[in-house]
Amino acid sequence: MSVVIAETNNEIENPLWHGEVHALKKFYELAAVDRPDPKNCLFLATHEPCSLCLSAITWTGFDNFYYLFGYTDTADRFNIPHDLKILQQVFRIEGGAYARENEFWKCHDLREAAEKSGPDKRAALLERITKLESTYAELSDEYQSSKEDNEIPLS
Ligand SMILES: [Zn+2]
Repeated sequence: MSVVIAETNNEIENPLWHGEVHALKKFYELAAVDRPDPKNCLFLATHEPCSLCLSAITWTGFDNFYYLFGYTDTADRFNIPHDLKILQQVFRIEGGAYARENEFWKCHDLREAAEKSGPDKRAALLERITKLESTYAELSDEYQSSKEDNEIPLS
């Protein structure tokens, strides 16, 4: 396997460009001959995709996604409560309890997968996740401070 597209959010350009949607935009801008079938790809996201991104992943034909930080982490550790709030307010879904496996895709929590892995891999995977969390906390601080003077509606 190799990286096809690696992207980040670009909400300052357009509030719809969440990391997932921006990555999907770039993915479909690849020439068809260079673009693998989405069903042959793993879709990785740092955060559990919001309702916008869940729909975007569905509409673009991916049958899976993996995430590192679930909705509660996103709200509590990264001060981004919108995912849970939108699901509750718009869809009346409490606690982010959408269908994690459905006819379109199956999603995977990377920490849960690491914890369920064999004893020979578990410690190394969890250590790697801890390092990623530390790196991401630093990036989040930078991101939060950069949002103070923007016009993003739900920043
Ligand atoms: Zn999103």
